Amino acid sequence: MIFALSSGLPPAGVAVLRLSGPGVFAVARQLTGKQRLPPARTARLRTLYRLQDHQPIDRALVLLFPGPASFTGEDVVELHTHGSPAVVAAVQQELLALGVRPAEAGEFTRRAFQNGRIDLTQAEALADLLAAETEAQRAQALANAGGRLRQQAEAWREAILALRAEAEADLDFADESDVTVAALVGPIRRLAASIEAALAGAPMAERVRSGLVIAVTGPPNAGKSSLVNALAARDVAIVTALPGTTRDVLEVHLDLGGVPAMLLDTAGLRESADPVEQEGIRRARARAAAADLVLNLGEGEGLRVVNKIDETGEAPGIRGGVAYVSALTGAGLDSLRAHLVAWARAQVPRGEPALVTTARQAHLLTEAVGFLAEAAAQTESLLRAESLRLAAASLGRLTGAIGSEDVLGAIFSRFCIGK
Ligand code: GDP
Repeated sequence: MIFALSSGLPPAGVAVLRLSGPGVFAVARQLTGKQRLPPARTARLRTLYRLQDHQPIDRALVLLFPGPASFTGEDVVELHTHGSPAVVAAVQQELLALGVRPAEAGEFTRRAFQNGRIDLTQAEALADLLAAETEAQRAQALANAGGRLRQQAEAWREAILALRAEAEADLDFADESDVTVAALVGPIRRLAASIEAALAGAPMAERVRSGLVIAVTGPPNAGKSSLVNALAARDVAIVTALPGTTRDVLEVHLDLGGVPAMLLDTAGLRESADPVEQEGIRRARARAAAADLVLNLGEGEGLRVVNKIDETGEAPGIRGGVAYVSALTGAGLDSLRAHLVAWARAQVPRGEPALVTTARQAHLLTEAVGFLAEAAAQTESLLRAESLRLAAASLGRLTGAIGSEDVLGAIFSRFCIGK
């Protein structure tokens, strides 16, 4: 039996303590002074008692979720107590005394996976949902948390295994093999094409997860840090009048109309004898080169930004593909921001959220497509059956039907304690 504080850190209005494992209903009965337990999935107010002296700890809502139709697949209890550190500590003490141990990070979700309630793609989507900072991230994560990719992957895997069975059956009827060999190529290619179609959305989905990258470049003292700060509307980068003090690349997270973006404040792009500065410059150049958009306060590529218009007297706004702003007074920043929001939204296609969202998923599906291509190209039934087996195995690893401890560890370590 495990327990965790599944709500935020106390003090809070309410604290949710979640218990899972065989025996948690008996624990709930002990804690509530052997009162009648509430019916399944129905909240009831109960007094929780200290076992030793039968003194009340708190009045709490008690909820029971009988397995296997619970989140973890086991019997689950939720105790909604008042969210004070003292109440939480007192209840935790009783739980420990009753043999319930603190859960590790992600342990509830891991049990859900082990009991077949969710697959690995759903676990990944759940981790993304918990980490979602913007609307696009939330929508994308929620779509896959429901098991869309799992269902699709299981359907692909079954279809591949059926083809493999045909290829193997063919071994027993060597005479007819020419006919069968040719007959299998079409279905194999169609399967590969269907997986490739799903893969097409993967790069953009990965962008939604990690954020679009906007690099702010320009010579020292152009106002890069000031612009990053003004756009982020909070003081993150160090603003100073001395050139070359922004030694590293600083990141600021922006929510551009629901689309996540990372604003990179690059080091002053100039030659320098200082090795630390040289490294900063090298990194800045590399990241700016890989950015989705460059806000350029100097000459060269990207969206040109003319800063310090409070000094030159130019009018704020965007004209002829150039943004005129003052990071100091804020003039022109609304137009620049609106431009960035429109640009970010245009990068993320509307409609159905992507099916394939993580690098792990994309890698395994690409691998499966490769094995299917091999299978289609084989003329020997034995070799074809083997390629199909490998393609099915890639899909098995995608859902976790075939698993390795390393992969599980990497996925479940993303969760916090209590999930
Ligand atoms: P960076 O080296 O490109 O990051 O430039 P900073 O953001 O550190 O700014 C360099 C100097 O220019 C600082 O003294 C800022 O206060 C000043 N500065 C930045 N933006 C503006 C602006 O829009 N107007 C004026 N007048 N000064 C600015």
